Amino acid sequence: MFLHGTSRINDRGHLEIGGCDTVDLQAQFGTPLYVVDEQLVRQRCREYTEAFKASGLKFQVAYASKAFCVMAMCRLAEEEGLSLDVVSDGELYTALQAGFPADRIHFHGNNKTPDEIEMALDARIGCFVVDNEIELRMLQAIAARKEQRVKILLRVTPGVEAHTHEYISTGQTDSKFGFDIGNGSAYEAVKLAASQPNLELLGLHSHIGSQIFEVEGFQMAIQRVAEFSRTVKEGLSVTFSVINLGGGFGIRYVEGETPLHVSQYVQAITDAVKLHFEGIAPELPEIWVEPGRSIVGDAGTTLYTVGTSKDIPDVRKYVAVDGGMTDNPRPALYESKYEALLANRANEPVEETVSIAGKCCESGDMLIWDVELPKVDSGDLLAVSCTGAYNYSMASNYNRIRKPAVVFVKDGVGQLVVRRESLEDIVRHDVVPERINKQTVLS
Ligand SMILES: *Cc1c(COP(=O)(O)O)cnc(C)c1O
Repeated sequence: MFLHGTSRINDRGHLEIGGCDTVDLQAQFGTPLYVVDEQLVRQRCREYTEAFKASGLKFQVAYASKAFCVMAMCRLAEEEGLSLDVVSDGELYTALQAGFPADRIHFHGNNKTPDEIEMALDARIGCFVVDNEIELRMLQAIAARKEQRVKILLRVTPGVEAHTHEYISTGQTDSKFGFDIGNGSAYEAVKLAASQPNLELLGLHSHIGSQIFEVEGFQMAIQRVAEFSRTVKEGLSVTFSVINLGGGFGIRYVEGETPLHVSQYVQAITDAVKLHFEGIAPELPEIWVEPGRSIVGDAGTTLYTVGTSKDIPDVRKYVAVDGGMTDNPRPALYESKYEALLANRANEPVEETVSIAGKCCESGDMLIWDVELPKVDSGDLLAVSCTGAYNYSMASNYNRIRKPAVVFVKDGVGQLVVRRESLEDIVRHDVVPERINKQTVLS
């Protein structure tokens, strides 16, 4: 397993993260346990802000909270000077409860409900990223009733889609998100938005994909958005002060993956903005980006205790851990790959190839196919790296398995930031109607 951030193997042959021995974390907090390397999260935040400062452009780096949204993480993003993207009332509530400054919160989503819009307006958040015409009209109406003027971006699809090493130039008409530039709906949306008395149109938003390893997709999107900005300026006399280029910056999950350094993505973006936006408006637009995975992904490690195993001669050996698709659904959802090591015997030589299974009643509940480890025994501590993004935030209670605790580790101290769910939590929202509440008495 590649050792990210402050992860290292200590004198006891144990995996250590943030100065904390993971075997001690297992004893203190139990497993499964999400461990977040706080210093690495802060480092990633700073890589973004420093790269943008070097560009000389005005900017905001908004952490896409959906990757890992808990109050402590919102605090951390706020301390590092980031803005915050939310997509639901639940994420917004989390951010507000954490004291995140409302004016640095951006509200995303393709189906914001009237209640969510009300809540966000009452909180006076910084910006709505408007996805469609129904939302645009609803936002105008609610803002008018509340006598507020609201800053908005319009989400557009620039006709570029990027996944890891491929970027595809598409008609992009077939997306649930945003206004299409190619078919003219984005132009109509700008015209409509600019005429709404309670909406202040700051600019455009484009998000081309996720886990992107190259800069070409961003450069292409910037070129298309700039061309569109020029068209809109000429046709409607509307100029944009903000261009939001979304997130999607890749990270290294497993050997062989070679994402760029954060500064390389940022420099490619700012250079392309300088090139393509020159002369459209008196000033270059402010650039916003929205990294999620690349802020928290490689800072997370999940610790599991090994339980049973099943060795099928000449086929494979399954090793089961005390979590699985409930705490990490990504392998089941996307066939995502992960690396692992035996955290309590990290120096021992590789002896067998095993597959790591979860404990759910579901054959698809596999975390890793074929990982090389020392001989694995019941009670061993297994660490799976790069689980900081889209793990806790996608966790479920399937099989009524309790969601794990989350700890932030730094300078030898493990700090609980999310408590492990209790069995009482599991039935907390259950209601048994009176008519089926008659106890059967066995005599
Ligand atoms: C998911 C998402 C992001 C974050 O994507 P990452 O791949 O985690 O960086 C940013 N912006 C929008 C609009 C998104 O939907």
